[in-house]
Amino acid sequence: MTTEQIVLASRPKGLPVSDNFRMQQFELPAIKAGEVLLKGLYYSVDPYMRGRMNDAKSYTPPFEIDKPLNGSVIGKVAESNSDNFKTGDAVVGHFPWQKDFIATEKELTKIDTNLAPASYYLGILGMTGLTAYFGLMHIGKPKAGETVVVSGAAGAVGIVVGQIAKIQGCHVVGIAGSDEKTKLLTTEFGFDEAINYNTTADMNKAIAAACPKGVDVYFDNVGGEISDAVIKNIAFHARIPLCGQISLYNSTEIPMGPRLQPMLLTRSVLMQGFIISNFQARFPEGIQQLAQWLKDDKLKFTETIEHGFENLPQALLGLFSGENTGKMIVEI
Ligand code: NDP
Repeated sequence: MTTEQIVLASRPKGLPVSDNFRMQQFELPAIKAGEVLLKGLYYSVDPYMRGRMNDAKSYTPPFEIDKPLNGSVIGKVAESNSDNFKTGDAVVGHFPWQKDFIATEKELTKIDTNLAPASYYLGILGMTGLTAYFGLMHIGKPKAGETVVVSGAAGAVGIVVGQIAKIQGCHVVGIAGSDEKTKLLTTEFGFDEAINYNTTADMNKAIAAACPKGVDVYFDNVGGEISDAVIKNIAFHARIPLCGQISLYNSTEIPMGPRLQPMLLTRSVLMQGFIISNFQARFPEGIQQLAQWLKDDKLKFTETIEHGFENLPQALLGLFSGENTGKMIVEI
């Protein structure tokens, strides 16, 4: 059968543009024993994909020119040559940006759509929820009464980090890019305070005012000047889970900032980078906890859903201009 795919046409310099992507037709072979044919339903776009568009060595290999991009996808089994998957099953896995694709059994995980909507397995019950859970709980180690600051607070990871910190009894401050987002964080998601970094002239002062006892845990999703301002307010023995640096992903030169090491040294601060796959062996524990909190109404989630396979590149680019609240997803 013929299907459609989106390939990397060229490598971007700075912010990607639509010409870096190309949609083309692709001929799928017949499925073999143990394989299934899947129809894509929901496709995840994630900031780390920007790094994979560069030809640079990293923790995941770069996307190849003229080959489809790939990422987390929720699919429905359309045809099966497997005893373990039947037509109609909903599954999640790492697949190419194709409308239809073939997968082997071991590449598929069934999802329980009675527990949560299918798309949640790309967000709160998927990679971004697990990132929030393990980064905060195992590196941030928040204690009741402490102050937790999270940047990128209205995004897929940040919105979960803030709520988990509230469950732990912390004072939670979110940083996000619009008044609409900061209002949502405090009114709908239980954050104590939220700061709009786009309209705040002095971030250092604003963070000091929101965190009078200093910042005990800083969950860093964005890096750059926002993080410089938070770290100026860091408390003694603070922990900084270093999760993302989205403000720097499109930089064409090595960005310079204040030297932070003296501050970390003199305040005995722990800053630890992590990649969610470091915690792979413990994913079942994380999913179980997140699902339980969802069931108990202690956690809420939100998504920005774009429609149409051809809009995958635009949705990815939208992450860099803050077009999403919660998880950015493309529904086919
Ligand atoms: P988000 O859903 O948070 O989407 C990205 C958000 O980043 C945008 O909505 C925008 O919100 C904000 N943003 C974009 N550009 C800038 C900028 N220049 N300065 C400040 N904020 C900016 O993405 P995720 O929740 O999926 O990911 C959040 C971070 O976590 C990313 O850096 C990502 O790479 C990282 N990550 C790391 C993982 C790991 O294993 N370490 C796993 C998953 C994610 P706003 O409107 O507020 O600006």
